[in-house]
Amino acid sequence: MQGENPSQLDAQAMLQEILDLKAECENQRGRIADLEHRIAIQPQTGLPSRYRLEIELDELIDRLRVEEDKRGFTLLILQLGDDYTNIRKTLKASVSEWILYQTGMRMAGMLRPQDLLFHTHENEFVVALMGLKGPELGSFLRPFLTRLSEAHIFAGLNIALKVTAGAAYWPEHGEGRHQILQSADIAAGDSRVRHRGFSLFNPSLLARAVEKVELQNAITKAFENIDEQFFLLFQPKIFVSELEGNRLRINTVEAEVLIRWKHPERGVIQPDDFIPLAEETGLIMPLGKWLIYQSTRKLVSTRAAARICSGMSINLSARQFHSDDATRILATALARSGAQAEDLTIELTETGFFDDPQAAARTIARFKELGVRISMDDFGTGYSSLSHLHRFPLHEIKIDKQFVEHLDSSSDDRVIVRSLVSIATGMKLALVAEGVETSEAVKMLWEMGCKGFQGFLFAKPLDERGFIDFCNRIADANMVWDLAA
Ligand code: C2E
Ligand code: CA
Ligand code: CA
Repeated sequence: MQGENPSQLDAQAMLQEILDLKAECENQRGRIADLEHRIAIQPQTGLPSRYRLEIELDELIDRLRVEEDKRGFTLLILQLGDDYTNIRKTLKASVSEWILYQTGMRMAGMLRPQDLLFHTHENEFVVALMGLKGPELGSFLRPFLTRLSEAHIFAGLNIALKVTAGAAYWPEHGEGRHQILQSADIAAGDSRVRHRGFSLFNPSLLARAVEKVELQNAITKAFENIDEQFFLLFQPKIFVSELEGNRLRINTVEAEVLIRWKHPERGVIQPDDFIPLAEETGLIMPLGKWLIYQSTRKLVSTRAAARICSGMSINLSARQFHSDDATRILATALARSGAQAEDLTIELTETGFFDDPQAAARTIARFKELGVRISMDDFGTGYSSLSHLHRFPLHEIKIDKQFVEHLDSSSDDRVIVRSLVSIATGMKLALVAEGVETSEAVKMLWEMGCKGFQGFLFAKPLDERGFIDFCNRIADANMVWDLAA
């Protein structure tokens, strides 16, 4: 290197560095293009992906603004429900992939050339329908959604899936990409939770969504002092041995444990308003654990104080019930409290049983080994297949209050209740009617063969003291309840 001055050396080195960097840039660009190409397409369907949706939605909105387009578009989010998730879990991957592919093709086949279609997540599709709103949108959606929920025939299987849809109008429900997607997403969430085929965004949905986020934050905080924010009520569940005229002879009284949340600012919140949130956030697991520990303790203290309380029922959500911990928590709670397993009933809803019948059968077998009893709650409201019922060692069936409310006026409800009674009798199960509000309902149910009753006619959910007093009053009345009183 002798003879070359230092500045010449620097220039050469820098030139080399520039060349290296340029080559590196070329490589990076190629890599970006390759990645972009790959993430632009959803592999199962070959449709444009979420990545493309964001780009194309921005382009579309820019174009419509420049053109001063007055008609805008409707953004539609379509989701395949839990039954798709079940298929993915239980059948071969090729089946769920085929269903996704078919669903994408069905959509593509019904859209017009100007519409846009994206496959954004495994079970989610997004469509932009140009200029279709109001009644026109309705006329388009009816056959569209019907076609999507038609059965898929594949390898001898016949699979029908529920599709839910939420829509928002551009620009009315959000002018930017982010807002319009959020509005359509809120509408999709509404159609999903309400089990409706379709929901259109409106501002009250937004208010509800904001409230939901607030509640979600509040419930997370509530766990910091769980014993102060949550409390339990007890609603009598009465088993009758005789009815003569207006006199009921009561055999036993149990309690269903019902949870309440005492929100520091909003007062008492009902479980229907926070259990679904607790399920979504996963908080149902610690809440359920707390509930099991509390309930077993209350079972012991109530049995000691009330002369006739013979047991308690607790509600377990499907998610809790399917967790591996459930049996262990129950066993520990029983051991620590000293409660008898046979005095504890676990109420499960139909979804808990039937979304995964094999897993349910395994958990129930473990519960049975522990000695607790199992009750099927809200029977008749879901999609339970009666043919599966005998696979579960049940102890009790609860008739949902929707069939009890209108017993006197609805002959359909009477037919349903009669068949539930005959199923329960055939399987030698206890039967409890919920939502019993009138003496007439008790008499009709008794005539049909139902001997268990729960409802406002006897008592609303009571605090612990109230429940103990209720039991002792019945004991004082020699186990007789006068319906005429
Ligand atoms: P559920 O298990 O079906 O509970 C019965 C519901 O019916 C209770 O509402 C009760 O207050 C109400 N009810 C009882 N008798 C009558 C009546 O005569 N007429 C009418 N109209 N209603 C009556 P609640 O306490 O609001 O509970 C609602 C649901 O929340 C429960 O339905 C249950 O699914 C869930 N839930 C309550 N507590 C818990 C819990 O600790 N854990 C879980 N996972 N879910 C719970
Ligand atoms: Ca229940
Ligand atoms: Ca129920």
